[in-house]
Amino acid sequence: MDEMLENNEGSDEKASLFVECPHCYTKIIPLANNTCPACQGDLSNLTGVDSNKVALLIYESEELPTYCYSCNQYTEQEVRVSGDQESILSKFLTGDISPEQTSNVVIFIPQCESCAEIEDPEPIEVDYERQTMTFVVHRGFRDHTIQFREEHGKK
Ligand SMILES: [Zn+2]
Ligand SMILES: [Zn+2]
Repeated sequence: MDEMLENNEGSDEKASLFVECPHCYTKIIPLANNTCPACQGDLSNLTGVDSNKVALLIYESEELPTYCYSCNQYTEQEVRVSGDQESILSKFLTGDISPEQTSNVVIFIPQCESCAEIEDPEPIEVDYERQTMTFVVHRGFRDHTIQFREEHGKK
């Protein structure tokens, strides 16, 4: 799982049993009837699936390209996303993980003005240990980000 996240997102060879659900973008192991255990979506039915959206792992304080994560338009606006939101935190409080083990994750994600009016960026997953968040982003933004990482010699 770790290697899978750090390597080139273009190669699915290491994905093993896990697939990304096209409906909720969670990494899941499909149920026997080929549905997603997280959202009950039918994996063989892609009706209503936005093929321009993909999941992208973003590192804390990582520099990102100046494109809106949601529509891939050029933008210099950024939105601060903090992992320390109540909904997420409460999961930790009700679980057996002590709060000391969770340090906050903060990411500045580019978002254009028109998208900012529609929605706030919400990570589908926050990893406090590795200080990363996973967002559903525009396919083009992911490509920009991968290219950006390569140009800047990052992972
Ligand atoms: Zn799903
Ligand atoms: Zn936008």
